[in-house]
Amino acid sequence: MALPERILLGPGPSNPYPEAMQAFQRPVVGHLDPAFLALLDETCDRLRTVFGTANPLTLPISGTGSAGMEAAFVNVVGAGDVVVVGVNGLFGERMCDVAGRCGAEVIRVDADWGTPLDPAAVLAAHPAPKVIAVVHAETSTGVGNDIEPLGAGKGDALLLVDCVTSLAGIPVDVDGWGVDIAYSGTQKCIGVPPGLAPLTMSERARERRVERPQSWYLDLGMIGEYAATSGARKYHHTAPISMVYALHAGLGAVLDEGLDAVIARHAECGRLLHEGLDKMGLELFASEGHRLPELTTVKVPEGAADADVRQRLLVDYGIEIGGGVGAYAGKVWRIGLMGHGARRRNVTLLLAALAEVLGR
Ligand code: PLP
Repeated sequence: MALPERILLGPGPSNPYPEAMQAFQRPVVGHLDPAFLALLDETCDRLRTVFGTANPLTLPISGTGSAGMEAAFVNVVGAGDVVVVGVNGLFGERMCDVAGRCGAEVIRVDADWGTPLDPAAVLAAHPAPKVIAVVHAETSTGVGNDIEPLGAGKGDALLLVDCVTSLAGIPVDVDGWGVDIAYSGTQKCIGVPPGLAPLTMSERARERRVERPQSWYLDLGMIGEYAATSGARKYHHTAPISMVYALHAGLGAVLDEGLDAVIARHAECGRLLHEGLDKMGLELFASEGHRLPELTTVKVPEGAADADVRQRLLVDYGIEIGGGVGAYAGKVWRIGLMGHGARRRNVTLLLAALAEVLGR
């Protein structure tokens, strides 16, 4: 097969951090090599910094963001446990599915897609749930949900938060907000290819883990011994060495620039994009005041052919934008500005290319 140019040369605006890509070229050492374990330790330290936590159990789970979601649920949710899930998009729906498969009694609290969850409604859904679970940044709708009031009002419950699209893109403060379990993915604002799911768990949640999780692979009791403690490490599964190199380097790029500066860069790019789309006469989908800078949703204008526009952006400009999901398929576009991709030049290029394709 002849590979298309964007696979050979890169798609331009959505590239990961160059440092992360270069790290893939390093020789692969053994996964119990002390040099690798030192690099893994430093990666976990870097994750603590971006998550805003001192949790000893902080590590990259092998697998994509969904593996982080499964690890989060399967370790604290057993048969009959009450789990309240805030749902205002596809990933909240997925949480209900995952919690249900763990045997939970799932109580959903819905908000319309495109609008934020009401924290008071989430907290009022049950007097004593074991877990309250929400998505911080709903990638399916471009809406950010407030986490702090949930931490303040959670009582005895464990607060479980999906930070796949928020980590290193908007402020995340695991310890400050009282989050007990948080997970992310490498391919969003951390700017590393997909393949690992950073996860952190408070000591409080660790004490309340289910004794024998239904998943062997994702049992944090066993993985934690390998990743959270230096010294006598036991084999659990073979760490994806090159992915850990890349995550270490991608986090290094973020911390060298400064986490606050990276978040400010995302905020500025999001603002410029929102303003530019508005000037073009397009209508943003997510409620004002809750729009994510790193993931913008905009309504497909009257008369525009959704798939054709996206195809032209991809083929002519190397720019990939996402289509709508669920009931919004064909009705909204989802534009990501994440990690290394969150640059002014990419906003300018996207706005110019979209204006040309739409004839505006
Ligand atoms: N949660 C959110 C908010 C996401 O955006 C995604 C993926 O886009 C996931 C979970 C699942 O992550 P993955 O596709 O890496 O498994």
